[in-house]
Amino acid sequence: MYPQSPVHDPTIQNLRASSPPTPTTRLAPSPTGSLHLGNAFAFVINWALARKHGWHTALRIEDLDTSRVKSGVIDQTIRTLEWLGLDWDSGPTTQSGDIPRYQHAMDTLAQAGHVYPCELTRTQIEQAASAPHTGSADAHAIHEVRFNPDLRPSQIPSAFDDADGADDAGTNWRFWVQPGSIEFTDTHMGCQSFDIDTLLGDFVVWTKRTTPSYQLAVVVDDAAAGVTQVVRGNDLLDSAARQLMLYRALGITQEPTYTHLPLIRGIDGRRLAKRHGDTRIESYSNSGTSNERVIGLLGYWSKITQERSPMSILEFQERFTLDTLPTDDIVFTPEDDAWLRS
Ligand code: GLU
Repeated sequence: MYPQSPVHDPTIQNLRASSPPTPTTRLAPSPTGSLHLGNAFAFVINWALARKHGWHTALRIEDLDTSRVKSGVIDQTIRTLEWLGLDWDSGPTTQSGDIPRYQHAMDTLAQAGHVYPCELTRTQIEQAASAPHTGSADAHAIHEVRFNPDLRPSQIPSAFDDADGADDAGTNWRFWVQPGSIEFTDTHMGCQSFDIDTLLGDFVVWTKRTTPSYQLAVVVDDAAAGVTQVVRGNDLLDSAARQLMLYRALGITQEPTYTHLPLIRGIDGRRLAKRHGDTRIESYSNSGTSNERVIGLLGYWSKITQERSPMSILEFQERFTLDTLPTDDIVFTPEDDAWLRS
């Protein structure tokens, strides 16, 4: 129904490497359910920065996790973005229609010896973990078990085969993580350093469902679309380190600038979810809340206003600045909810 993303073309990539890239960003919703206030916060800020700075804005629907994509949700996601007042210059595109482009990236990784098939189960990986990973309450902690390097195969294949499982059903492929830290400067969160080898070890880039993992798909898609600006929630801060590893392993020289935003949390400190009540944008709009009230709350959270007051999307775009935006996560309070419903 929706067009596929542009096909990966190495010649375009080379041209991009030698001429200054067009500043480009993307709105990349996962169609896993209705967008809630936390999603809206990130998308509205991404859009405002793009319009302020004149970045080309592409809409990409991240629909690869097909087990979670419910029918009708893509249209609903787009309608919600429009209701908020957002627009875009290209798209929507979806990821699911062009799996060969990701296979092509896997070929490149396999030829350079960066990836290998791994049929170990989660339990086997947990049992072999050298030390239990102590995930803290920190927003940025990686909540996955570290993959013990002793579990690596003795031989690494030089070609990618996505049916390379015991029963030809498909298998996970992992990226061989080199020791050392990946460092980058986030526009909002400042200097970052992640030692992925110690934190996480070899991570999955291709899944046994014969689709790329999120980490690989996002790099291939962002590179193909010439994305220079990635703006998203800080739950993906450590993913940026994994994604930069993949850019380098794939030989893609145009790496994006990252801007990670505070998450919206409930009063229990947990990430906004169903347990905090119905914070879906659709539910507020259905019960008569205006989009200006929602945008007004996002403006209040961004500290561009001292009080909650209705605001147009254009006023938000004009007034928004990262200078006032907190770096700490933001709490959605009962007062916020009452104000939206008043
Ligand atoms: N699809 C992800 C989300 O909806 C965003 C991924 C990204 O921006 O890299 O949270």
